Amino acid sequence: TAPQDVRAGRARELDRAHIFHSWSAQAGLDPMTVVTGRGCEVVDEDGRTYLDFSSQLVNLNIGHGHPRVVAAIQEQAGLLATVAPGYANLARGEAAERILSHAPDGFTKVFFTNGGADANENAIRMARLHTGRDKVISFYRSYHGNTGAAIVATGDWRRVPNEYARGHVHVFGPFLYRSEFWASTEAEECERALHHLERVVQAEGPSSVAAILLETVVGTGGVLVPPPGYLPGVREIADRYGIVLILDEVMAGFGRTGSWFALDQHDVVPHLITFAKGVNSGYVPAGGVILSAEISATFDDRVFPGGLTYSGHPLAMASIVAALDAMAEEGVVENAARIGEDVLGPGLRTLAARHPLVGEVRGTGVFWALDLVLDRSTREPVPAAEVVAMRAALAARGLLAFVADNRIHVVPPCVVTDQEVARALAIYDEVLTDAEERLLG
Ligand code: PLP
Repeated sequence: TAPQDVRAGRARELDRAHIFHSWSAQAGLDPMTVVTGRGCEVVDEDGRTYLDFSSQLVNLNIGHGHPRVVAAIQEQAGLLATVAPGYANLARGEAAERILSHAPDGFTKVFFTNGGADANENAIRMARLHTGRDKVISFYRSYHGNTGAAIVATGDWRRVPNEYARGHVHVFGPFLYRSEFWASTEAEECERALHHLERVVQAEGPSSVAAILLETVVGTGGVLVPPPGYLPGVREIADRYGIVLILDEVMAGFGRTGSWFALDQHDVVPHLITFAKGVNSGYVPAGGVILSAEISATFDDRVFPGGLTYSGHPLAMASIVAALDAMAEEGVVENAARIGEDVLGPGLRTLAARHPLVGEVRGTGVFWALDLVLDRSTREPVPAAEVVAMRAALAARGLLAFVADNRIHVVPPCVVTDQEVARALAIYDEVLTDAEERLLG
């Protein structure tokens, strides 16, 4: 007998009957069915092919179905499919070694988790235990995951119905296009955002602040690349007050920005780095915390009060080793950088020049956002419901898009080709034209 009943419509039928979906009211959902994928494309149950310019949830850096990663998972499954975290295991050690080889000097250990939220959860716990302090300062435009402290550290609407954890404070980071600081230049925005952060640290009482947590490049909150000097300035503030700096590289890490870590482009070294998504492109759930020697030493003779049954799961570890080796050997990170610089960045700017709906194009590598506005002078955001309608129009033309608020995030796999970018740009162009007819008249 076939392992699966593949009748047309069956996947959707079962989904509607039995699957409880994330971040949604359940009535009225009608998700598309995805059957398989290769590289930057996925195929639905009718055999229709789509360009995946969402990289699913911005995690598919190496593309769908990479044969080497698939083979590594299959091989590891035959050897040992699971092992408790207390044992030594070669795949786990090699995964940590590969990850550390891309981290700045001074990082020595990796604590593996099941994904990004628990990576941040444990990084916050480490910072609290290391400092003996409680408060975490994070940013209004941020997402850090859906667990206790991680969701309360999050800046967007998802925090508010989940606000059970204490000891969290939020600040505004730099974002010149929608400046909270009345700034007109990047330098002004940077200086004022740093001043605001330091004043909040002082007002909260520096001796109560354990950590400053931020995304190196803000992802879901709008693809906000920090201005030069901002992140080194945050590190200086952290040092001045004995605070642990945690950089969340869950979305930005492992090639998305065109470098192995986004922090490589920002002259900053944090105390802790959190990762997930791109480390193995999500082929098996995995994430973790990369510890500097300083934080790691805190737990040399003191128990670290945290752990997970699947910490360092062998299938995840084998997929990390294979994904990182394939990315290095195939120049995947270099491809992301080149595409951003020579193809996607210029292509999106050309679109913006033709389309008044595009207020700003920003990004780097394969990490871009189109900030959509009804009026370029007031920068009034296009309503989110209109952007959701644009996502449906993009899908109808064969492109899977990632949208958030008034933005389309252009986030293909790091392996995307020039031809695929050209196809995508033509689809965005058509959908923007239609939306402009509807919204701008
Ligand atoms: N941090 C960032 C920056 C993210 O973008 C995400 C997920 O989108 C997370 C953390 C949470 O990761 P996960 O969904 O694997 O728990």
